[in-house]
Amino acid sequence: MDTKEMYAQMGISNEVYEYGEKIIEKLRPRFDEIDRIAEFNQAKVLSAMQKNRVNAAHFAATTGYGYNDGGRETLERVYADTFHTEAALVRPQITCGTHALAVALSANLRPGDELLSPVGRPYDTLEEVIGIRDSIGSLKEYGVTYRQVDLLPDSSFDYDGIRAAINERTKLVTIQRSKGYQTRLTFSSEMIGELIAFVKSIKPDLICMVDNCYGEFVQTIEPSDMGADMIVGSLIKNPGGGLAPIGGYICGTAKCVEQCAYRLSAPGLGQEVGANLGLLPSFYQGFFLAPTVTAGALKGSIFAANVYESLGFRVVPNSTEPRYDIIQAVELGSPEGVIAFCQGIQAAAPVDSYVTPVPWAMPGYDAEVIMAAGAFVQGSSIELSADGPIRPPYAVYFQGGLTWFHAKTGILMSLQKMLDAGLVSL
Ligand SMILES: *Cc1c(COP(=O)(O)O)cnc(C)c1O
Repeated sequence: MDTKEMYAQMGISNEVYEYGEKIIEKLRPRFDEIDRIAEFNQAKVLSAMQKNRVNAAHFAATTGYGYNDGGRETLERVYADTFHTEAALVRPQITCGTHALAVALSANLRPGDELLSPVGRPYDTLEEVIGIRDSIGSLKEYGVTYRQVDLLPDSSFDYDGIRAAINERTKLVTIQRSKGYQTRLTFSSEMIGELIAFVKSIKPDLICMVDNCYGEFVQTIEPSDMGADMIVGSLIKNPGGGLAPIGGYICGTAKCVEQCAYRLSAPGLGQEVGANLGLLPSFYQGFFLAPTVTAGALKGSIFAANVYESLGFRVVPNSTEPRYDIIQAVELGSPEGVIAFCQGIQAAAPVDSYVTPVPWAMPGYDAEVIMAAGAFVQGSSIELSADGPIRPPYAVYFQGGLTWFHAKTGILMSLQKMLDAGLVSL
C-alpha cells in the first residue's frame, strides 16, 4: 500500500491528497528554511543541557516542600541559558500561560504603579488579570492602573502615542508577541527589540515583559535577545514540546525572576520551594523536542494558509508572509465552513477522533464557539487544534500538530469535509 492509499483508508480522497501534494511541492524552499531554524534551535537547547551537565539524577521526583531539588534548579538553568537570560522560573505550579503572566505582572508591580500596553488590547484572559474587565483579585483591585496605546491601522507602533503615555508612574510595559485572536500582525523579535529600545530611551528603568506564547523557537532569536527583561509563556504550547502536561515559564533578569518566585510561592520562600512531583522528565524531554515540534506546527500553518488561500479564502497570515508564531486564521465565510473545518481537524486526531464537535455557548464569549481538539494533554494547543466563534467573518484559528505529518493530515481532512459539504471545489 502506498501513502495515497493509506490516506484513502482514513477517508482522504485521492483528489484531496493530490491537491495537497501540488501545494507542498511549492513550499519545499520554505520548509527547508524552517528546518534550518529548527536545527539552530536544537543546537541551542542541546548546548544548554550539556553546559548544565543534565543527568539522570535530575529526573528524580521530589515531593512536599521540594527543598534542594537539583533537577528543578538545573532545568531552570537550561531555560535561562537557552533564552540567554540571567534567571528562569519553570514550574508545574504555574498552571497555564495566563497564570505565568499574572505572576510576572503582579510580582513586579506595586500599588500606585502603572502598567502600559503599547501594542493595543492584550489577550482576552489578561483583561481580567489587569482589571480592564472587573475581576476578583485583578491588578486594578490592588491599585495598579493600566494604560493602553493602540497600534496604528497598519499594525505599526504609535511612537508618538507611546511617548505621551509614559509617565512618572509607568513601571512595566507589556508586549504581546503573538496576535492571539486579533487580526493584527504578530511581531518579530526584532520589531519587539525596536519597541523596547524606544520605551527605554524615554524611561530607562522601565521593565519590559513580553508575552511570548506561541512564539518560542519560531525564530533563532527570542525577545530576550532583544532587550526584554522578562519573557513569559505556557508549557502546553511550544516550549513543552507536547510532553509537558502542565506548567509555565518566566525567564528574565535575576531581579525580575526573583520577584516572581516570591510572588508564586510566598514572601520569604521564593524559588527554594516547589516540588517537581515527577514531572521533570517530561519538561526536559519536551524542551529538547520543542524546536522540532514547533517547526512541524509552523509547516502545518503555512500549508493551511496556502491550501485555503488557493481556494479563495482570506488567510492571516497570508501564504507568503514571514511567520513569528504558529497560529493560522482562515476566514471560511460561513458557519458551515467553520463547522466542517473543525470537524475535519477532530476526525484527524489521535484521541477522540470519533467525536463530532458542535458549536456551543461557551461562558465568556458573545457568540457560540466550536472547538476541535483531540489531544494527549487536555487543552494543549501545541497539539493539532482549531476553534472559531460562529460569527462573521467566520474565521477559524488553527494551530499545532506534534508532527508536520499530523498537521498535514488534519488540514487534508478539513479540506475533505469542506469538499463533502459542497463548500469548495478543487
Ligand atoms: C495562550 C495565550 C495566553 C494564555 O495562555 P493560557 O495557557 O491559555 O492561559 C496568553 N497570551 C497569548 C498570546 C496566548 O496565546
